[in-house]
Amino acid sequence: MENFQYQDNQLCAEEVPLTQIAEQFGTPCFVYSKAGLVQQYSAYSQALSGCEHLVCYAVKANSNLAVLSVLARLGCGFDIVSGGELARVIAAGGDPTKVIFSGVGKTLNEMDAALDAGIHCFNIESAQELQQLNQLAMDRNQRASISIRVNPDVDAGTHPYISTGLKENKFGISMQDARELYRQSADMEGLEIIGVDCHIGSQLTSTAPFLAALERTLMLIDDLAADGIAIRHLDIGGGLGVIYRDENPPEPEELISQVRATLGDRPLKLILEPGRSICANAGILLTRVINIKANGGKNFAIVDAAMNDIIRPALYQAWMDVVPVESENSVEARTYDVVGPICESGDFIARDRDLAIATGDLLAVRSAGAYCFAMSSNYNTRNRAAELLVDGGEIHLARRRESFQDQIALETPLP
Ligand SMILES: *Cc1c(COP(=O)(O)O)cnc(C)c1O
Repeated sequence: MENFQYQDNQLCAEEVPLTQIAEQFGTPCFVYSKAGLVQQYSAYSQALSGCEHLVCYAVKANSNLAVLSVLARLGCGFDIVSGGELARVIAAGGDPTKVIFSGVGKTLNEMDAALDAGIHCFNIESAQELQQLNQLAMDRNQRASISIRVNPDVDAGTHPYISTGLKENKFGISMQDARELYRQSADMEGLEIIGVDCHIGSQLTSTAPFLAALERTLMLIDDLAADGIAIRHLDIGGGLGVIYRDENPPEPEELISQVRATLGDRPLKLILEPGRSICANAGILLTRVINIKANGGKNFAIVDAAMNDIIRPALYQAWMDVVPVESENSVEARTYDVVGPICESGDFIARDRDLAIATGDLLAVRSAGAYCFAMSSNYNTRNRAAELLVDGGEIHLARRRESFQDQIALETPLP
């Protein structure tokens, strides 16, 4: 979070005051810090030094081309879950041979495009998908590199919507079924087994579930070795949590050193798929107070950002920090619900916050670099916010604000 700090009572993104960004580009807008992205990626790559590895940033967390290009230039790989994300990685200058394709529902067209691009590995999530990819690769006279995503039946202890490693979830393949499926894949001419993959959920705040999943996965790898199937890489997924409020998640360094200790002397390449922990705290959402009103004994600060821009509070009951951009203020502090203009009571950004604010003030929603813009919509015919990437004292317009014309460009009224 040190990339968004107060200087002379003004909240800044690196060296740029957010008031300047609001004047130049309007609100609401997302502001990302390039240094924040670089720091987080480097935390992973440094912890992995001396160990064969690939960090594959999970594109879905924030798929803006500017963000992807920063990471691509650092040598980062990418974890994708759709053909669209593959196209984004390529458009941003990412290396397709460092791409991992995850997800429970890859279409034949998407798999075909991924084979065209020469991606590193497909993470297989079902027996049927395995058959489909095998057939496709054979038709193309090639071998597709695969790993099977195992479901270790571990409780990640996170919000149910972002928990993916329990046996009743739709993700992955059980340990027993995985061993059998690996044996079958070994005989399939269109496939080459290269890894085992596991991703148990998001916003994990301790290493314990990672290590529990890892131990089960290593047992499978040892069993496979006994079956004559050599596994070259172990992909432990993403999911490392971040600080939104008072969480105490491990640093990448702590997680990775424990993982490396658990691996022992197995000669495995390590793959990670971090999303949130790379970009969440490298971004904020900048919004302006439109109106202040009191209703039924409650104070509401109505701002120009809404659930279409930032759905995490409504979708996951997520707590996001809201701070004034100008910290010196003569106004009296009150307890506010910070809400958007959308016609839903679920349209809130924060509840019961003590803020000294007035109409026209700027607020920053912290930790908004992951799963915010990426989940935004045009609900209520609201134009999607602009996105800026700050590098030192420079501002790069990473995505211009949408216009009404952009929104209706694909629609046609009945003649
Ligand atoms: C979402 C996802 C990730 C990234 O999770 P984070 O919590 O953002 O680190 C990694 N791998 C897979 C398969 C995912 O679905």
